[in-house]
Order: sequence, then structure tokens, then C-alpha cells
Amino acid sequence: MTASPPPVDPFDLVIFGGTGDLALRKLLPALFHRFVDGQVPAASRIIGVAREGLDDAGYRGLVRDVLVDTGAAAERIEAFLPQLHYLPLDARKDDGWDAFAALVNEQPGHIRVFYLSTSPELFVDICNRLGANGLNGPNSRVVLEKPIGRDLASAMCIIEAVGQVFSEAQTFRIDHYLGKETVQNLLALRFGNALFEPLWNAGHIDHVQITVSETLGLGRRAGYYDRAGALRDMVQNHMLQLLCMVAMEPPASLAPDAVRDEKLKVLHALKPVDMRNAAQLTVRGQYRAGAIDGERVPGYLEELDGGHSDTETFVALKAEIANWRWAGVPFYLRTGKRLTTRLSEIVVAFKSVPHSIFDASAGPLAHNRLVLRLQPDEGVKLWLTIKHPGPGGLRLRHVPLDMSFVEAFGVHQPDAYERLLLDVVRGNPTLFMRRDEVEAAWRWIDPILAAWSAAGEPPRPYAAGSWGPSAAVALIERDGRTWNEDSE
Ligand code: NAP
Repeated sequence: MTASPPPVDPFDLVIFGGTGDLALRKLLPALFHRFVDGQVPAASRIIGVAREGLDDAGYRGLVRDVLVDTGAAAERIEAFLPQLHYLPLDARKDDGWDAFAALVNEQPGHIRVFYLSTSPELFVDICNRLGANGLNGPNSRVVLEKPIGRDLASAMCIIEAVGQVFSEAQTFRIDHYLGKETVQNLLALRFGNALFEPLWNAGHIDHVQITVSETLGLGRRAGYYDRAGALRDMVQNHMLQLLCMVAMEPPASLAPDAVRDEKLKVLHALKPVDMRNAAQLTVRGQYRAGAIDGERVPGYLEELDGGHSDTETFVALKAEIANWRWAGVPFYLRTGKRLTTRLSEIVVAFKSVPHSIFDASAGPLAHNRLVLRLQPDEGVKLWLTIKHPGPGGLRLRHVPLDMSFVEAFGVHQPDAYERLLLDVVRGNPTLFMRRDEVEAAWRWIDPILAAWSAAGEPPRPYAAGSWGPSAAVALIERDGRTWNEDSE
């Protein structure tokens, strides 16, 4: 039996960028699902803000179309829509902010969440205007989407400026990977079972792999992406956060600072990758035309309308954590666009048994692997060696103990944003990045960017629909290991 979700106090959630891709594709469907589960109290308001000249009816129409496309029941959609409002506002201009403040102040007792789902160049303008209009009181919270800056210096500028208006406790820097069920399950697996923790160290773990692969190309994000590239877009935030969740010491509790203190220690312990070793430890790539699912897809430069660009759409790198638990255990990270499949997973590869008692006819002995799949189908598999059933001698087989969440629990898997949006309303920052984490992540990334820039080499080409440049395969095979490619 599923427990009913805990109640939530009435809130006003303002989405700056309320007509954008993230708002329509992720935030509003997430809020709708929480509404259906009774966690958006009737008095709550969701207020979309952007420059486009819509009114409430126009905005509700836009959101209705999105929700209809998700296959949601019409009567539920119609019940949800009256909670939506819209106000046209330009974050860069003063006009209209009086009316905005008056609208928000209609509900002085509500929790106020200002979700900045806009380009980060607008974060400071929006926060300054919220402050100037007295909307940064104790019941207000601000949510900042990634990316926060494009290097340490620009991140610190944004962090400082936002910090002039909202305290650290009011600031929620979102990394939606942390809201994924599998990532929270990593906490449950590691710290809710006696089985794993004694093995969770360099004595027993051979290496860790983290893969985040996309089949999509640039889509509507060309302008942003070409200025960012894969290292800033994926590694600085999502992938380092996943690495921290795998590698951190057991926190004393799930209190926000207990968890974030441990993650920060991991970031501080990462061995530097810089001009001395970046050529050995990192691979950058950029896709050319190719085929995905039998369809021809254009190359990156064609998608950019033929312009020149040395932006990387693929990164593979080998990281190491210099502490007692992890000394000598490589963490291989790879991410890219237009790869062969859409997949996010963490693979914890254990060491082989010290001695085999089986003869050659039993077949090869494989490593145990714990595979945590974040997408497309969230779940956990533990690969074990067993005897192949039946007569014919003792032959070994490698099989997964499989816990696909949808199959195991048969319920709608909440999107990460559903969890995280309610955490903001409740004021729980455990799964959000603290200022020092963002800064420490940039501090590790900046020297890699500097090394690439000094080397001045173009990214290596790879065909769309492949697993990236062959150098990424060589990166791990040089160490006698291979990327995990079990599609089961
Ligand atoms: P988007 O589709 O370009 O939407 C931007 C939104 O901001 C639009 O609603 C736009 O509407 C509004 N806007 C632009 N200039 C404005 C101004 N001066 N004043 C007020 N509103 C303004 O972008 P997005 O993909 O939703 O991304 C939003 C943020 O989330 C970005 O920081 C992005 O990096 C981050 N993010 C996005 C995704 C994703 O999957 N899309 C994932 C993770 C993070 P008007 O033009 O009408 O003003």
C-alpha cells in the first residue's frame, strides 16, 4: 500500500521564464502531478512570468496543451488550471514590477518561491528587483537553475549578487539529478544496508563509471550550448554531484549540512587535472553527421548553421579522489550529445575474487557490478556470478539481481522536479547545492578549461550515433578496463 503524501502549506510559486522549455516540459507537469496527489493546496498560486503579452486565460491555454499532450485526464487538467496565473514582465526593466509586487502581496501569509527558469544572465536583475520591491522576506525562497556562471569568477559574481538579496538559507541551487529516485536510492542502498558499506572502498572497488549520454543534438539550446559545452553543461554540476554521492563518507544524518559537508570534502579531495596531465586524463569530442535509430542526423556544425566552433559536445575523463577510502580507484566520467543511446548510469565495479577455484571449462569469472540506472528506466541491478542451471558441469553465468522500480513498485515514478519543488516549499535544502559546493566544483573544472584552451586543439570528431571518439575508449582501455555496455 502506498502511503498518502504529507500535506503542504499553501504557497505561491512564481516561475520566471514561465513560457520557456524547462517550465512547460518539466516544472508545470511536475506541479500538475503534485496537484493530482493533493500536494498543491487550493489556495496556492502558480504564477508564470515572461515578456510575452499573455493573460491568465492565454497562459492556462498554453499549459492545457502541454498537459493534454502528456495524456493526463481532461477533468484533472481543468481542475488544476484555475491555480495558474500569468503576468507579463521584463526582468531587465522596471515597468510592471509594482503590479507584480501587488499580485504577490495579495497572499502575505503564503510561502513564496521565486523559480528563476531563465538564462543565468537575468538572475541578478531579477533578484535585485525582488529585493527592491520587498519580496525577499523570511517566507521567500529563490531557486536558481544551472548553470551558475561559466567559470569560478562568474559563478562567484552571481552568488555574491544573489546573496545581497537572499540569505544562503533562502537560496536553492537546483541540480535535478539529485532529485532522481535512483540517486536517493543510492543513499538508501549505501546507508540502509549493512552489506555494501564494508566493501565501499579502494580495497574492494576496482573503479567507478558515470555515463550521461544523450541522443539529442542542440535543439533550441544552440546559443547557450555553444557558449558552454559538455564540461560546463554536464560535468561541473550533474556528474560531479553524482560522483560526490557515490564517494562521500557516511553523513551523521540527512540534515542538509551533514550531507553537503561530506560532498564538499569529496570535491576538495579531487586530484587536480590541469596543463600537466589534461591530455592524458581528458578527451573532448564534437559530433559529425551520422545515424541514430536508422535516421540520418546532421553534425554539430551543420546544426549551428555551418559556423565554426570548437565547443565540445562530448567529454570523457578520468578523475581520482585523493583520500584513504578512494586512493587509486579511478572514476571514469563520460557524457555527450548525439550518442548511440539515451542513458544515465553509475557503475560501481568491484574487484575480482583473489583466486579462482574453477577450471577453464566453467567460463570466465566476471567482476560484480552494481549498476544504478537513472534514465531511461530508473532501477538498480547487482550483477552476480551463479552456476548455469541444469546438467553439463559447472559453468558460470553472470546475471543481474534486478530491481527496476516501475516493475517492482508498479507506480508512476515521480520526476525529480516533483520532489525538489516540494522540498523548496518545505524549506529543505538537503538535495540542493550549497554555495561552497558550486565554487569547489568550478575550482576543479577551471584548470581543465584552461588546459584545453592553452593546448588549442580542436575537439576530436565522432559520428553521431556512436559512443564518442575512439580516444574515449582508449582512455579506459589503457587501464585494462572497458566502458559498461550491457544493454539489459
Ligand atoms: P528558454 O526556453 O529559452 O526559456 C527562457 C524563458 O525566459 C522564456 O519564458 C522567456 O520568455 C523568458 N525570458 C527571456 N528573457 C526574459 C526577460 N528579459 N524577462 C523575463 N523573462 C524572460 O530556456 P529554458 O530551456 O526553459 O531554460 C531556462 C533555464 O533553465 C536556463 O538557465 C537553462 O540553462 C536551464 N535549464 C534548462 C533545461 C531544459 O531542459 N530546458 C534543463 C536544465 C537547466 P520571453 O522571451 O517571452 O520573455
